[in-house]
Amino acid sequence: MTASPQTPGIVAGRMAAPVVAENFADIAPRLTAHEALVAADRCYFCYDAPCITACPTAIDIPLFIRQIATGTPEAAAKTIFEQNILGGMCARVCPTETLCEEACVREAAEGKPVEIGRLQRFATDKLMAAGVHPFSRAPATGKRVAVVGAGPAGLAAAHRLAMLGHEVTVFEARPRGGGLNEYGIAAYKTVDDFAQAELDWLLRIGGIEIRYGEALGREVTLDGLRAGHDAVLLGIGLGGVNAPVLSGEDLDGVRPAVDFIAELRQAADKSALPIGRRVVVIGGGMTAIDAAVQSKLLGAEEVTIVYRRSQERMSASAHEQEHAQTAGVRIRCGAAPVRLEGEGRVTAAVFAYTREEGGRLEVTAETFTLPADQVFLAIGQTLDGVPAGLALSGSKLAVNGAGRTTLEGVWAAGDCTPEGEDLTVTAVAQGRDAAMDIHAQLTAG
Ligand SMILES: Cc1cc2nc3c(=O)[nH]c(=O)nc-3n(C[C@H](O)[C@H](O)[C@H](O)COP(=O)(O)OP(=O)(O)OC[C@H]3O[C@@H](n4cnc5c(N)ncnc54)[C@H](O)[C@@H]3O)c2cc1C
Ligand code: SF4
Repeated sequence: MTASPQTPGIVAGRMAAPVVAENFADIAPRLTAHEALVAADRCYFCYDAPCITACPTAIDIPLFIRQIATGTPEAAAKTIFEQNILGGMCARVCPTETLCEEACVREAAEGKPVEIGRLQRFATDKLMAAGVHPFSRAPATGKRVAVVGAGPAGLAAAHRLAMLGHEVTVFEARPRGGGLNEYGIAAYKTVDDFAQAELDWLLRIGGIEIRYGEALGREVTLDGLRAGHDAVLLGIGLGGVNAPVLSGEDLDGVRPAVDFIAELRQAADKSALPIGRRVVVIGGGMTAIDAAVQSKLLGAEEVTIVYRRSQERMSASAHEQEHAQTAGVRIRCGAAPVRLEGEGRVTAAVFAYTREEGGRLEVTAETFTLPADQVFLAIGQTLDGVPAGLALSGSKLAVNGAGRTTLEGVWAAGDCTPEGEDLTVTAVAQGRDAAMDIHAQLTAG
């Protein structure tokens, strides 16, 4: 299921290194101080501001914009970080067009919202560049909390718990922290190793130890963590991929889109990454879009996303779809994969047209074939192993509103739970809220 530089049709260097570097440059560079003032000036500082309600972390947006407008961006950054310690990453990756900016009254009135995301980045970058960490720890409580997973949910929880005076140990399976901030988000949204810079900055609160290469179910057990800590929080994300039931899925050149994206994010020289001439991506979410766009940016000639339902049903936002199409990606909807063809390596993908009848998807007998030398499967991520003793809700860990699982002393937050959309900002909100609930329980009476 892997692509290798030896696979014919999948080759490195389809574009010169400087062109690839330019293709992967910051997609929305930071506003200048003057631009930020002009953007901040458009805010009406609404009472009962709808943008706050639309933000999963409930940042006081009019307050931070006013702080920018009055020339105190560092204060604005603190306003943001109080609610969302990963406000720097969220400023880069939040689909603001479906969250705060969609709710902004100026969007409704003029079709042009206040640029909340870019203002947030302006303020948070300013404070982080100054090397300032605006919070300090409360006196030690003597309580120890284990956090599993150093993604947005785990890090937001760890920071909040450390700030409240608890000792936190984070167990992270991979060699680097950040979760999908480090291994998933499109490279052009988070340039200059920002995920690691943000992690280093976050850890300056103190009281957090990260143990890399230590996985729950491998080096540590849930029973062991419960025995050695006063509380355990699981922020393990969705590390598995849905298994396709597709003939030809084991051909060379076929692989999960998330693996390709992780490899791309870790590559020191992206122009050295092998890519197909004709790439087919199967799926309809953000992962499909990111795999397709980044294939194009690496020099693939023809990139086609194929999604089984109608375009409106794609879980990638209209903005993301438009971005893909602008990058030259073709999106074909209403077709389901039938089989992948080739001898040893993939050469074509066969699809059948689909029909939706009262919400039910029917696959028709009419097919078409797309030549392909690389196929990325982006048909969804799933929990990678369920720790014993935890109940599921659907395919995720069952929790109540505050992140409590069905096991005493164990909380969960982020993508591994069924709450909210699977977004960075939602994971941060859930990690923070679970941390507050843990704190309340550990310090009660
Ligand atoms: C390709 C892609 C692009 C995306 N783009 C965007 C975007 O542009 N904007 C946006 O808002 N959201 C985006 N998302 C979604 C967003 O990245 C996730 O919602 C978010 O990262 C979830 O955070 P999390 O902490 O729950 O999980 P993760 O980020 O997945 O972190 C989980 C962490 O737990 C670790 N872990 C897992 N199992 C174990 C174990 N057993 N023991 C120890 N550690 C373990 C993992 O290694 C990882 O570090 C994207 C997702 C993908 C896949
Ligand atoms: S809704 Fe728009 S105009 Fe009103 S406070 Fe929020 S950003 Fe400002």
